[in-house]
Amino acid sequence: MQFGLSHDKRNISDSDLLSDLCRVASEQSEVHVKQRTYRTHGKYGITTVIRRFGSWNAAVKAAGLETTVERNIPDEQLFSALYDLWVLLGRQPSYAEVQKPACLFHVATFERRFGSWRQALEAFVSYANSEDMTPPIAVVVGATPRRTSRSPDLRLRFKVLQRDYFRCCACGASPSVTPGVLLEVDHIMPWSKGGETAPENLQTLCFSCNQGKTNHR
Ligand SMILES: [Zn+2]
Repeated sequence: MQFGLSHDKRNISDSDLLSDLCRVASEQSEVHVKQRTYRTHGKYGITTVIRRFGSWNAAVKAAGLETTVERNIPDEQLFSALYDLWVLLGRQPSYAEVQKPACLFHVATFERRFGSWRQALEAFVSYANSEDMTPPIAVVVGATPRRTSRSPDLRLRFKVLQRDYFRCCACGASPSVTPGVLLEVDHIMPWSKGGETAPENLQTLCFSCNQGKTNHR
């Protein structure tokens, strides 16, 4: 009989459980870790994991180990999830913040695709800062011909948010200071009135200010 201190289950965080799952997955070269494998090589109890995530499969999924499906995710979709998280936080997300539900994909998915979390961030930034390759379109609304489409794409939105330091141009609110502040990219001169979707006609507004503006129109 061996004596040892048992882990205090209440102190185990979700990310502790998930990273141990990932560790076992990589050490055992088992993409979808089986309960049997984890029972032998894992640090925590199967029931602790199941109780925390609802089911074994949900835990495996939360750990980002569902590679059969995740292998096919286009880079753009990963970048888009990263963008959403970045805007939600109002700043560069940290490793520990890449978690559901704030981020659609687990950090392991980014690591697998780009080599490391740092490299994922670098790939995203260079994607977001690259020039948009879409040629200008000619849309005609009523009598006004247009150079640009109505909605700014991810690159343009990110550029505007960065330029405005992820702060509302009207009230200065930022999710990095006040979590929950929702930032939007708004046309200064409405697109419907001839305003183009270009940096000089776009500004960062928080949801409340943007609503206020819309109501007064
Ligand atoms: Zn505001």
